[in-house]
Amino acid sequence: MRILARALIIGVAIGLTTLIHAQNFDLVIANGRVVDPESALDQVRHIGISGRTIAAISADPLSGRAIIDAAGLVVAPGFIDLHAHGQTPETYRFQARDGVTTALELEVGTGDIDRWYAERKAGRLINYGVSIGHIPVRMAVMRDPGSFLPTAAGAHKAATSAEIKEMARRLEDGLKQGAVSMGAGFPYTPAATPEELLEVFRVAGRNRVPVHVHIRRGVAGLTEVMKLAGDAKAPLHVVHINSSGTTATAEMLKMIANARGQGQDVTTEAYPYAAGMTEIQSANLDEYQDAPEQRVALLEWPRTGERLNRETFQKYRKMGGPVVLHTNTEEMVIVAVTSPLTMIASDAYWENGTGHPRTTGTFSKVLGRYVRESACLSLMDALRKMTLMPAARLQARVPAMRTKGRLRVGADADVTVFDAAQIIDRSTYRDPGLAPLGIQHVIVNGVPVVTKGQLVEGVAPGLAVRAK
Ligand SMILES: [Zn+2]
Repeated sequence: MRILARALIIGVAIGLTTLIHAQNFDLVIANGRVVDPESALDQVRHIGISGRTIAAISADPLSGRAIIDAAGLVVAPGFIDLHAHGQTPETYRFQARDGVTTALELEVGTGDIDRWYAERKAGRLINYGVSIGHIPVRMAVMRDPGSFLPTAAGAHKAATSAEIKEMARRLEDGLKQGAVSMGAGFPYTPAATPEELLEVFRVAGRNRVPVHVHIRRGVAGLTEVMKLAGDAKAPLHVVHINSSGTTATAEMLKMIANARGQGQDVTTEAYPYAAGMTEIQSANLDEYQDAPEQRVALLEWPRTGERLNRETFQKYRKMGGPVVLHTNTEEMVIVAVTSPLTMIASDAYWENGTGHPRTTGTFSKVLGRYVRESACLSLMDALRKMTLMPAARLQARVPAMRTKGRLRVGADADVTVFDAAQIIDRSTYRDPGLAPLGIQHVIVNGVPVVTKGQLVEGVAPGLAVRAK
């Protein structure tokens, strides 16, 4: 009996193997170095894709109706960006060429979840999703006239208790409508009182939803937000620790590690640039009004490349537009990017034909400058920060994230194929729209959106990532 059972098992196994090899997949990625942070696989493999799903990962060649020859290239899970502003056809194109297959706007978010997804219903180049954001909700309740960030009452007027109640109601509604998470940005809403912020975090705590927060600067900012999240029992995700931390980045990462050690649910992310960018009219920049000239000179007007002084700061503030903030050092960027705590997230920012180079180069910059050139990060660790970690952060609430960020049978066929010897970002602060080099193929839900380094026109395989 035992021998018979064994023979049967072997027979079934051989049968299955033959089945896989005889199967004609829709798409095969052949001969690539498959790197998967979840299983720690780093071997030459062949990947068979059926429809939207990875159906086989095999050491033996597979046959398919279409074949991508990935010999000499790295085959990785598609990159998941937890911090992607823009969310326009233009930014999806930029990000696809940087290897991003899922772009989520979780910091600012939106005030109307149903409407946001309905606007993108026709399909997009890459997968997309959004949080319900305290900033836009506050703008709506306080009737702020700003388009993306508050410029009047949304930033500068304290809310009544009825208005705070209304904000909490709208946040709850957004979660019911399937928001991926919650968003907040304290420097953009300086008039929000501790009571108001606690109310926001209580909504997150009740629903066990992470709040993606742009904190106030430095150790004090992190202390404030960790206390709020702790009091409300809300999961916390601190966005761009590099630009919120600057010289205190290492210390703040230690604080996060300690909090995690004590059981607090707190995660963080970084982008690999020493300068930030934001709208010059936002409340975040109020402090520069009376700042010493030396500090104002940290600001650059990207259209001309000039460093600002008090006079030109006022002039451009009346005009409006993005401004570059040279507030960090390369040393601290390396601390932020290489910490095992950080995910890589771009904070992609693009408006009226210009923006920050991180929009087009975040992921290729990490893989080119930090993995290959300075070797301060291993390929596996870098990919984990771009794929598995962001998926794991969201998967308790968002079912779609359980099948993203990994290469295994049954996972979504979101795949990025790149040349590890060539990959590099090309964008600069003056010229931020340049596509990186070395990203060869990007596949979203089984459909190539980048082939041989070029965008594929007329495809829209990107699906909504939503918590329902
Ligand atoms: Zn942002």
